[in-house]
Amino acid sequence: MTTADTAGEALKKAAQALTGAGVDSARLDARLLMAHALGLSAEGVFGQPDRVLGAEEKERFLSLVEKRRSRQPLSQIVGCREFWSLEFAVTTDTLTPRPDSETLIEAALAAFPDKGADLTILDLGTGTGCLLLTLLHERPGASGVGVDISEAALDVARANTEALGLDNRTRLIASDWGAELADQRFDLIVCNPPYIPEGDRSSLMPEVASFEPPHALFAGADGLDAYRTLIPDIKKHLRTGGRVFFEVGIDQADAVADMLGHAGFDDIDISKDLAGIGRCVQGCG
Ligand code: GLN
Repeated sequence: MTTADTAGEALKKAAQALTGAGVDSARLDARLLMAHALGLSAEGVFGQPDRVLGAEEKERFLSLVEKRRSRQPLSQIVGCREFWSLEFAVTTDTLTPRPDSETLIEAALAAFPDKGADLTILDLGTGTGCLLLTLLHERPGASGVGVDISEAALDVARANTEALGLDNRTRLIASDWGAELADQRFDLIVCNPPYIPEGDRSSLMPEVASFEPPHALFAGADGLDAYRTLIPDIKKHLRTGGRVFFEVGIDQADAVADMLGHAGFDDIDISKDLAGIGRCVQGCG
């Protein structure tokens, strides 16, 4: 890619380069990278096609485009992603929040509709903290614990907790699932575990396969290993009448619902995501 003088020209070349690298949303991504390079909103960039780029701006933009050309996710390049209209810092140590996971938020909020309730919430494998912090944001009387096995992920969750002003209601703990929680019990448990079957690794988009943390993605031959580990043991962390909400992958909802049934959960329900895929399985403990 050669350099260009105006924002409009640079955008056009970047979009071509990204298309050539197999990026689906090349034009949009080019615009978002330009906005990031110039410190503008995406609309701001759109309105300034004739803006002449300074040498430093150009260089900054081109280095961002190079990263995207290598198929690094946009979220990691710009360092954040929106989830439930909140902004979450993202790094290579965390799974990028996905719209699918908003299905869990909807299901959990519907099951606990009282805005002011002093709920206790546990998020197992919190990553960016997006599930826990969104629920705390929506339920101002609640408090919560996020656990993650990765200290680097917890650093990101901590930054997000502070940025959202939720540090007085949030505790973050380094723990292999619930190992460090002793006998603490919660009203609401959310969990987006790894669930991609190992064999699907080669069919994943490079953004996921090459850049997201593998331990947040893969879980054995059928992708169900994390549920097998978690479900038999999870009731001890639920208060009576408490509920657990698991995110699941394509075609996994029935298997996970069965596991919850075997573990003695009642009122098991599956919620679909916007694509009509069973995405959240909940049960009452
Ligand atoms: N939904 C993610 C994907 O398909 C997987 C996340 C996960 O395993 N929890 O890339």
